[in-house]
Amino acid sequence: MKTVAQLELVSHSRVPEEILEQVRSGAMDGWPAERLIEWGFEQFAPRIALSASFGSPEGMVIVDLMHRIDASRTRVFTIDTGRLPQETYNLMDRVRDRYGIEVELYFPQPEQVQAMVRNHGLNLFYETIEKRRLCCNVRKVEPLGRALANLDAWLSGLRTEQGVTRTDVRPVEIDHAHGDRIKLNPLAYWKQEEVWSYVQKNAVPVNVLHAKGYPSVGCAPCSRAVPEGEDERSGRWWWEQAESRECGIHIDYEEQGSGI
Ligand code: SF4
Repeated sequence: MKTVAQLELVSHSRVPEEILEQVRSGAMDGWPAERLIEWGFEQFAPRIALSASFGSPEGMVIVDLMHRIDASRTRVFTIDTGRLPQETYNLMDRVRDRYGIEVELYFPQPEQVQAMVRNHGLNLFYETIEKRRLCCNVRKVEPLGRALANLDAWLSGLRTEQGVTRTDVRPVEIDHAHGDRIKLNPLAYWKQEEVWSYVQKNAVPVNVLHAKGYPSVGCAPCSRAVPEGEDERSGRWWWEQAESRECGIHIDYEEQGSGI
């Protein structure tokens, strides 16, 4: 199997040292979401975009915030893994219509998907954690590398309270796993109730599967509904331990010493 490093194509960013210093200082950690997004636009536009899965309300809140702040600078990309539920594709079209923006789609490389499926079968992810990560690498991490190649900064909807893998998330980070790009997590310290309150108040479009018990929607075979009150991430890769429930987009497996 290929390693994460072999699959990634991410070049080094062009972020100036003074901005890296500003981020390292932690001075922006207390900024509200709007101010962080404004700062991101000022520093990096047009080389900044939101990575949205269209499977969580957080990403949709950030689209709405970005669009209110500066519609002309609002860029959104997503990765079509080829295994997404129809409801997620429907939401992409709703967002495109509502905000009048292009959703920049990235796809896995067909040769890599073909080789993986021929070698390991269509449902390899249920067999071992290594095969699940291989699938996530081929279908998500490698396309992410191509999406980031033309960016200096990206935004995500990560929040600290989303589970054990996300407790260290900060509003502004230097993303060492992706060429020292700047990563903005404007909702890092928001509570789940705040997210849903914003959605309702502003009629933000969200994935209809949330109303069917899915707090987080990823690929169809790796997402399921969960009982109310359970960990937000517990419906993702539910057959694995909570500590491993990340796809590699927001975590560097090699740094963890568990590259495939
Ligand atoms: Fe593959 Fe599941 Fe990861 Fe999607 S979430 S890329 S189907 S392992």
